[in-house]
Amino acid sequence: MRVMIRNEYWDYRRNGMLANYHTHTKWCKHGEGEIEDYIQVALDYGLKELAITEHVPHKDNLDKRRLQWEEFPAFDEALNKAIDKYKYKIHMIKGFECEYYPEVMDTYRMLKEDYGYQLFILGQHRSGANREIDNFAKKGMQEMELYADEICRGIETGLFAFLAHPDLAIQGYSPGWDTNCEKIMRRIYKVCEAFDIPVEINANGLRDHRSYPSIDAFRLSTEYQLKYLINSDAHTPQCLCGENIVMAEAFAQNLKLPITELLHLPK
Ligand SMILES: [Zn+2]
Ligand SMILES: [Zn+2]
Repeated sequence: MRVMIRNEYWDYRRNGMLANYHTHTKWCKHGEGEIEDYIQVALDYGLKELAITEHVPHKDNLDKRRLQWEEFPAFDEALNKAIDKYKYKIHMIKGFECEYYPEVMDTYRMLKEDYGYQLFILGQHRSGANREIDNFAKKGMQEMELYADEICRGIETGLFAFLAHPDLAIQGYSPGWDTNCEKIMRRIYKVCEAFDIPVEINANGLRDHRSYPSIDAFRLSTEYQLKYLINSDAHTPQCLCGENIVMAEAFAQNLKLPITELLHLPK
């Protein structure tokens, strides 16, 4: 692998990625670093926009490895403070990475209207009426169908700005890429195309050698008129603008995927 030296990387960044819209911090409990540490890295690399998008808290606190419901006020205060401190240096966006569950949509709208969260990313980590299916675990066709159903319904709400790691759909499906995967991914791309929702090339997945981003899934995506975002999905400050972004750029170039640099969210 080519070793990137800092100056070379800097020049690359100046011509490349301008923003990161998928960022976790220590607040998610499986990440590291203060909000400010991420802002410092973003400034260092000349990013124009940075969205902090923790895994959204759910009232049931089913997932212990994320921001807990009671911790939201402290988190929100810390985020507001950091944004205020750097307001003349970088455009910060308050966001959340969210699952689509019909019963929590009102909570998401409340976060938007009452707390100024502007960016809701659809990231369907668990599926099912009781959130019983872990989408990172072993999956069969039934689970993949359910994932696609939920993605479609989620996008149809109009709340979500883009789809994180769309090909989490096929993670844990042991036969590997086949016509079932193709069927599932086509359903997802079709709804993203219809609603003009960008799909994410997840650099964290590349760095961790996960099954997403899948070259097969993204090759298939070129049959649709889609927008693509590269995001680090950073869980450490070093990963915000690190080698994983270079890998994601190469992945996109290889398939000639047109990258959207800035989301132009309504303020
Ligand atoms: Zn995470
Ligand atoms: Zn995610």
